[in-house]
Amino acid sequence: MPTQITPTIDRKLCTRCGKCVSECPTQAVDWIDSFPVITRPMDCTYCGLCEEICPQHAISLYYSISLKKNS
Ligand code: SF4
Ligand code: SF4
Repeated sequence: MPTQITPTIDRKLCTRCGKCVSECPTQAVDWIDSFPVITRPMDCTYCGLCEEICPQHAISLYYSISLKKNS
């Protein structure tokens, strides 16, 4: 089964404003125990919106880095 990469949410920074829950276009984020969690990882399209709109910068997406050899 492939590993699903999802944004990470730092609970220490999160103020529970709810923006990521209400703005995620695919409803991949929901509340669990009063904290936002990627509850439907397969629905996450990795669009980056939650990272962009979080006022606390509590959400991070991993990006792949390609190293290109100069010829
Ligand atoms: S947008 Fe950021 S601060 Fe607001 S609930 Fe989501 S993770 Fe927490
Ligand atoms: S990256 Fe996009 S689809 Fe995934 S949880 Fe964030 S807002 Fe939703």
